[in-house]
Amino acid sequence: MNAKICFIGAGNMAKSLIGGLIASGYDANNILATDPNQEQRDALSSQFAIQTYANNGEALMHADIIVLAVKPQILRQVCAEISDTVQAGSPLIISVAAGIRTDDINRWLGGELAIVRTMPNTPALIQTGAIGLYANSQVNSEQKSQAEHIMRATGLTLWVEQENQIDVVTALSGSGPAYYFLFMEAMEKAAQDMGLDAKSAHLLTMQTALGAAKMVMESHQDCAELRANVTSPNGTTEKAIQYFETHNLRDTVAGAMNAARNRAQELA
Ligand code: NAP
Repeated sequence: MNAKICFIGAGNMAKSLIGGLIASGYDANNILATDPNQEQRDALSSQFAIQTYANNGEALMHADIIVLAVKPQILRQVCAEISDTVQAGSPLIISVAAGIRTDDINRWLGGELAIVRTMPNTPALIQTGAIGLYANSQVNSEQKSQAEHIMRATGLTLWVEQENQIDVVTALSGSGPAYYFLFMEAMEKAAQDMGLDAKSAHLLTMQTALGAAKMVMESHQDCAELRANVTSPNGTTEKAIQYFETHNLRDTVAGAMNAARNRAQELA
């Protein structure tokens, strides 16, 4: 793929995508980025040898693909700034902005454009993201593969058929890292309360989470089977699992994810 990609907004998410693309062999001459902040621009050009611009319009002139990587609150204003240039070139638009629907982006940009909306998560910043993608009806199959190629630079990609499923992706993988952090926090605290020192509790919690995730990814067995394998009858794990089950862990998780999905719907 040798399309010219222009990132609007050169913050954390753009840096992560650009870093991933360059590490995967993408030609730095085909990557441009814009940002009002001179320090951000300088850091990006020296780290990745890409061209950066303070002016969005100037950078967009030759772009085949535009990645909207600004904060959601300012996306409308940014779209208004760039709509004339975008309408003239009809590039593929990829948005990483949380909670903004493709119809809104299209309306702000002047309409009828091919837009891929994505929902990355924070591990994308270390190339271990889980990214949901949705393509509006104007996106063709070549553009779908281009969008996938770009987003894969930060992790695993998965397409959803309906745009409202992005709200479910938000509740699952978008907010999901925080659920694991909370669970790990709680495990660390409980281990300390039971007498382990803080450092040991932290190390063992982290390694256990990593090991469990790797086992699920590398195994042909599903989570329930893997859990059953480590749950000997009348053993220690069984006691803990019984406690979780009788204290409604599953309902709590479902309730939390519903709350996140509902909030994503309200914000959109
Ligand atoms: P960020 O670090 O704040 O990056 C946004 C960048 O855009 C900043 O450098 C900002 O500059 C720049 N900017 C502001 N106005 C601009 C304009 N008119 N034209 C061009 N650039 C402009 O934010 P981020 O964390 O990368 O998030 C970017 C998007 O990714 C958001 O929409 C967010 O919803 C989405 N996202 C991020 C994550 C994540 O893990 N970070 C996860 C999921 C989704 P100033 O700082 O000078 O304002």
